[in-house]
Amino acid sequence: MKEILLCIKEIVGDSNVRVNEPMKMHTTFKIGGPADYYVTPVNKEQLKRLIELFNEEKIAFYIIGNGSNLLVSDEGYRGAIIQLYDKFSGYEIVSACDDSDKVRVKALAGMSLIKLGRELAENSLTGFEFASGIPGSLGGAVVMNAGAYGGEIKDVIISATVLDRLGNEMLLTNDELELGYRTSVVAKKDLIVTEVELEFKKGDKEEIKKNMMELSRRRIDKQPLEYPSAGSTFKRPEGYFAGKLIEDAGLKGYAVGGAKVSDKHAGFVVNVGRATAKDVISLTDNVSEKVFEQFGVKLELEVKKLGF
Ligand SMILES: Cc1cc2nc3c(=O)[nH]c(=O)nc-3n(C[C@H](O)[C@H](O)[C@H](O)COP(=O)(O)OP(=O)(O)OC[C@H]3O[C@@H](n4cnc5c(N)ncnc54)[C@H](O)[C@@H]3O)c2cc1C
Repeated sequence: MKEILLCIKEIVGDSNVRVNEPMKMHTTFKIGGPADYYVTPVNKEQLKRLIELFNEEKIAFYIIGNGSNLLVSDEGYRGAIIQLYDKFSGYEIVSACDDSDKVRVKALAGMSLIKLGRELAENSLTGFEFASGIPGSLGGAVVMNAGAYGGEIKDVIISATVLDRLGNEMLLTNDELELGYRTSVVAKKDLIVTEVELEFKKGDKEEIKKNMMELSRRRIDKQPLEYPSAGSTFKRPEGYFAGKLIEDAGLKGYAVGGAKVSDKHAGFVVNVGRATAKDVISLTDNVSEKVFEQFGVKLELEVKKLGF
C-alpha cells in the first residue's frame, strides 16, 4: 500500500491524494464509506499516468465528477477514486463558426455546470441555461446526457475527447456519443471524458441571465435543495413521472432510517440526517416494489451505485 501511495504522489503531488477518504465528503448525498485512494489529477498527462499505474498494479479505479448522481456503499470502495472536478477544470472560447451567430467553446470535463453556465452568460452565449443549475461536472453530464427544462447535453455538444480504460484517446462526435435519455456510449463502454466541445449562439446577456434566474427559481420552488440528495432518484418510466407514481402510492414522506422520500418532491430521496447507503437501498427497493404492486410500472434507479 505504501509503495503505491508513493507512486501516486509522484504523479499528482502530495496534496492531490488521500488514503481511506470518506466518500460522504465527495457526494451530494453525504453518504459513502472510505475509498482506499482518492486522487485529484490536475491535467490529462497525470490522469493517463494514473490509469497506467492502476492497470499495471491491478488496482480498480472509478471516475467521479461532483458525486451528484452517486450512491456509494457504507463499506466504501476498494481501489482508487479519481475525481475530475474543480482541479480538472477550465474553458476557452475557441471560435465563431462560419455562421457568425454560433460560437464554439472547449471545456475540461471537471468544469462545474453551474460555473460554466455563469461564464457563458457573462460572454452573452445562449443555449446552456437549462444546465446552469445542475450541480454536476461537464464530464458527468455527458455520461448521463443530463437534461432539464426541455434541454439536454445532446443539443449543445459537438464532440468529446475520451480515454478508454487503457488510456487510449479518442475523439467522439455527437452522433458517436449515442446520447439518449440518461445514457451515452461513455456509460455503456466505461470511457473517461476529459474534454468537451460545445456550440452556443450569441444572445442577449440580460435575457440569458433572466432565464437562468427563472429556472433557478423553479428549482428552488420544486426541489428539496435544503437536504443532501442525488437529484432525481429514479429514471422517468416511459409515459409516467416517477415522482407522481410514488406520491400516488402514498409514499411521500416515507422513511427508512435517515433516508426519506422528500415531502416537497416525491422524485427525490433526501438524507435527513446520517442516512446510510443501506437505508437508501432499503427505501428505494420498498418504493419500487410498492409502485409496481399498485401500478405495474418498474422504476429504475437513475442514481449510480458504487461499491455494492
Ligand atoms: C439537487 C440536484 C439536482 C439535480 N438536477 C438534475 C437535473 O435537472 N438534470 C439532470 O440530468 N441531473 C440532475 N441531477 C443529477 C446530477 O447532477 C447529474 O446527473 C450530473 O450530470 C452528474 O454529474 P457529476 O459530475 O456529479 O457526476 P458523478 O455523480 O460524479 O458521476 C455520475 C456518473 O458519471 C460518471 N462520470 C463522472 N464524470 C465522469 C467523466 N469525466 N468521465 C467518465 N465518467 C464520469 C461516474 O463514473 C458515474 O457513473 C441533480 C442532482 C442534484 C443533487
